[in-house]
Amino acid sequence: MSITLTERAAQQGERTAIIAPEGTFSYRQLLDASGRVASFLLNGFRDLDQRPVVFLAPPGFPYVALQWGIWRAGGIAVPLSLFHPRPELEYVVDDTTPAAVVAHPDLADRLRPIAADRGLRFAESTDALAHPPTGLPAVATSRRAMILYTSGTTGKPKGVVTTHDNITAQITSLIEAWEWTQDDRILEFLPLHHIHGIVNVISCALWAGAVCEIVPEFDARKVWDRVLQGGLTLFMAVPTIYMKLIDAWQKSSPEDQKRMTEACRRMRVMISGSAALPVSTLEKWREVSGHVLLERFGMTEIGMGISNPLHGKRSPGCVGTPLPGVEARLVDDTGTPVAPGTPGEIEIRGGVVFSEYWGRPEDTKKAFRNGWFMTGDVAVVENGIYRILGRSSVDIIKTGGEKVSALEIEETLLTHPDVVECAVVGVADPVWGEKVSVAVVLEPGKTLDIETLRAWGKERLAPYKVPKDLVVVEKLPRNAMGKIIKPAVKKIFPGSEA
Ligand code: AMP
Repeated sequence: MSITLTERAAQQGERTAIIAPEGTFSYRQLLDASGRVASFLLNGFRDLDQRPVVFLAPPGFPYVALQWGIWRAGGIAVPLSLFHPRPELEYVVDDTTPAAVVAHPDLADRLRPIAADRGLRFAESTDALAHPPTGLPAVATSRRAMILYTSGTTGKPKGVVTTHDNITAQITSLIEAWEWTQDDRILEFLPLHHIHGIVNVISCALWAGAVCEIVPEFDARKVWDRVLQGGLTLFMAVPTIYMKLIDAWQKSSPEDQKRMTEACRRMRVMISGSAALPVSTLEKWREVSGHVLLERFGMTEIGMGISNPLHGKRSPGCVGTPLPGVEARLVDDTGTPVAPGTPGEIEIRGGVVFSEYWGRPEDTKKAFRNGWFMTGDVAVVENGIYRILGRSSVDIIKTGGEKVSALEIEETLLTHPDVVECAVVGVADPVWGEKVSVAVVLEPGKTLDIETLRAWGKERLAPYKVPKDLVVVEKLPRNAMGKIIKPAVKKIFPGSEA
């Protein structure tokens, strides 16, 4: 058996695979380029034998050619983040001890010294792409394919290892659920050190024989311009990106708004994930685009697990039902399935689940119970549909003997007319155990104090859910994926031990 993604590409021949800043490339050109990269990496050896290769490239054709080249040489692809400062790049290099370090010429200065200090082979992607092709190994699909580093809200980031079989399971689940075909066309603007852009966007598009248009980064105006040109069939983004697109739409003239809305309507589906999608954002996007966003739940360790349906009713504030090939259940602290309607931790089983944390057998063992992966996310199933309550470590707040979901409180606070964004956290408190506290971003020119917010909140929330502490901030701390960094939010509050 050998790698299925590249085998499928061979059937697509001269069809367009990628449109990127560097030009337009067919599937054959992608295979040719990745074959050259693989030959370069092999460097006379027969097989990289599952050795990691770290690489840093902006979203574009060389990024995909490098990733596929590493796979075809039998290596493990380790994409680095464009947003990471030197110590974090060094951390990944030291954790993986790679066979080679490869950088796009524009970014070579960031990696060359790191490789040199450690005596590692370093190359620029242009050299790899120019190498004459040689014979390539047959790579078994059971072998390790990729390491993605988790954001690591507690402790050091861990390398999540997926095999070719895992990646294939993650891709085919989405191909089936969202009915990808070779007539599809998608725009990729997400960071490419994270599963969302790598698997859901690029790998699914290339598996389907579709066209993937890659832009170097997200820019609301440019994305709207591209949407207006037409031809895109699917759209995938994180909630903060939809918020930015809504903002740009609201600032446009009524005629432009109409054109933007009509352009969105021509797409067949628009999808949101990687963080909770506030219902208020879903509703605004419905007005902007005519689409009810399809929200799904996933994580680096499992790919995508739970999704609203492509056809049929989507439930705002909920993530739907398990995807094809994925088993999901909710359990209590002892691992026993909970009764319907009772909150529990989501456990996932199936071919989509990662194989191990790189070099951390103890952490791997702790992450599984009876063959199920313990996600650390708490949810409740209502009428067969999953609703996420948040991560047990930061979003489930234990206050005065009650367990409350930060996400539920955020949903309510976002309906306050002056609140643009908010993040609810539990701050250590001698009386309450944890005190429900909120950081808010307000509409320009507005003010809000805790007494006013509490009076408003008491009419809408159970008393113990109403925040007891409030800070107004200019913006919330977010990572490269636009996710709110809750431990950083906690630190804003006086007395926080986080
Ligand atoms: P990552 O591994 O960086 O993709 O982060 C995965 C985490 O993001 C999950 O464990 C959830 O906490 C969160 N997440 C992903 N999708 C959703 C969603 N639709 N709603 C709420 N949280 C989500």
